[in-house]
Amino acid sequence: MTARILDGTKIRDLVFADLAGEIRELGASGVKPGLAAVLVEENPASQLYVKSKIAACEQLGMASWLHTPPASVTTAEMLELVAKLNADDHVDGILIQLPLPKQVDTKAVLEAVDPAKDVDGFHPVSLGALVSGRPGLVACTPAGCMEILRRGDIKIEGANAVVLGRSDIVGKPMALLLMHANATVTICHSKTRNLPEVIRRADIVVAALGRAGMVTPEFVRPGATVIDVGINRISDPAQAENFFAHFPERLAAFREKGTALVGDVHPDVAGVAGAITPVPGGVGPLTIAMLMSNTIKAARLRRGSRASASVPAVAAVPR
Ligand code: NAP
Repeated sequence: MTARILDGTKIRDLVFADLAGEIRELGASGVKPGLAAVLVEENPASQLYVKSKIAACEQLGMASWLHTPPASVTTAEMLELVAKLNADDHVDGILIQLPLPKQVDTKAVLEAVDPAKDVDGFHPVSLGALVSGRPGLVACTPAGCMEILRRGDIKIEGANAVVLGRSDIVGKPMALLLMHANATVTICHSKTRNLPEVIRRADIVVAALGRAGMVTPEFVRPGATVIDVGINRISDPAQAENFFAHFPERLAAFREKGTALVGDVHPDVAGVAGAITPVPGGVGPLTIAMLMSNTIKAARLRRGSRASASVPAVAAVPR
């Protein structure tokens, strides 16, 4: 194995240390940043994600509130809740955990969030700020990937970057952030021709496909940096044998549990890449760190007159 491991947990701890300083400065001005999470009680995976976000708030000494409307909630009830949170001065960030139940108009709910509290960066106003390179709240997962690249000392300026996936929450904002950081960016999707050939030209590959282990070593130029956003649960023993043939400990853990988490990048890519994020323990911890960073940034921008902090937010749009 040759690749340097870009350890998301360690980078998350560095980000948290910076954020603790910002929280102290805000606290001195009487501002305690606060995140309100809305979780419709349905999906166990979502429950786990929200729990870890609330735990991060507690770890950093931030305020947090959890709202759990029932699975039968209507669009009107969700809009009423969002309006209340928009009006609450103590709430700096509003997180609507997706997916919402089928009967709820997800777009209407996300667009009802006050852009000043849009810590997920999903609101069209936040996306518009990102497109035009203005400071704003940037989607947490792509912002976290940038943090890994910067803190991992990966040169972005002038690099050929290939982003695999064009979703609104990962691929598109990722491509914009890399472009603002002066990479030459190619965006790939399900209709891209000669995908392996395109990926092989990349100095930096960001994989956000939702396809377990799709990026194999033949796709990757030796020495390239690979950021694996994918989170896929596998339970097929044949697939596990293939993925973990060179990772006996992971194979043993799979045999014991009958399931494992893998990224969109085949673990063997670590044999050709120059640097790579692991799954789990790569991008995931940074997504939560950037949510905290956005909440603190939102507190500073919205309640700035009461706060003296002048430290730039970790997830600021680079120019
Ligand atoms: P998504 O909305 O399903 O988008 C997937 C993208 O990949 C689409 O643009 C799709 O192309 C493209 N794609 C799918 N199969 C392809 C193929 N065979 N060849 C080329 N392109 C292909 O997924 P997402 O929400 O962006 O999430 C992507 C992955 O990241 C998932 O595994 C998700 O669980 C993970 N994720 C992780 C975090 C984290 O914190 N680590 C956060 C968010 C998401 P089309 O547009 O043409 O359909």
